Amino acid sequence: MKKAIGLLGGTFDPVHIGHLRPAIQILEQLELAEVRLLPNYIPPHRASPDSAPAHRLAMVQLATAQTPGLTVDDRELKRDRPSYTVETLMELRRELPDTPLCFLMGMDSLCSLNRWHRWQELLEHAHLVVSHRPGWQPQFNPTISALYLAHGTRDSEQLQRRLSGCIYLFDNPELDISSTQIRNHIRVGNNPQYLLPEPVADYIREQGLYQSPVL
Ligand code: ATP
Repeated sequence: MKKAIGLLGGTFDPVHIGHLRPAIQILEQLELAEVRLLPNYIPPHRASPDSAPAHRLAMVQLATAQTPGLTVDDRELKRDRPSYTVETLMELRRELPDTPLCFLMGMDSLCSLNRWHRWQELLEHAHLVVSHRPGWQPQFNPTISALYLAHGTRDSEQLQRRLSGCIYLFDNPELDISSTQIRNHIRVGNNPQYLLPEPVADYIREQGLYQSPVL
């Protein structure tokens, strides 16, 4: 069995410290080989993102360039149709048959997982590693409770021993940061410094992103 890798899907509009700190902590504490950030093309379960895919990709590349162990996987952006996580995980499983896959998500995502396309199949292809997020308690609806009862584990070694199938709640410090909050700061002329990496903030300024209201 190879060393497990992490996969963090998101719109990253823009990528911020609330994505990156948990990703680094999970990389180190779970001894993953790498964490790949996977920007979504069109997230199927939410409204269309503000910025063009090329901007979101550029920001994720800038954010990870100086961080050993964090990489970017742009496969979903290359598809010209909605990207479903289950399909990406199936593709990665075919490419990496001996590598445990840890799909990283925030607690908000786990709480609404049963709205994802073919959500019942996700754990066949990957583990779920969930980071805590302010405002989201692990108080699950009955469907997610049953899923957690069947797949939840407190033993992180299972994530390296098995290819898929575990849900692991990662004990990270909560960071009250979201892309929405950052877009709103920029729209009203506030300084988003320290919520996101400096090179990403510079890129947003240079490109004039998030300055006009969404119509
Ligand atoms: P938006 O505000 O536009 O909805 P977001 O900040 O939630 O965006 P996404 O790109 O949608 O960012 O998130 C990608 C993944 O990262 C999701 O699984 C989400 O739960 C997780 N995540 C985002 N922000 C945090 C945070 N502050 N703490 C923990 N997990 C987070």
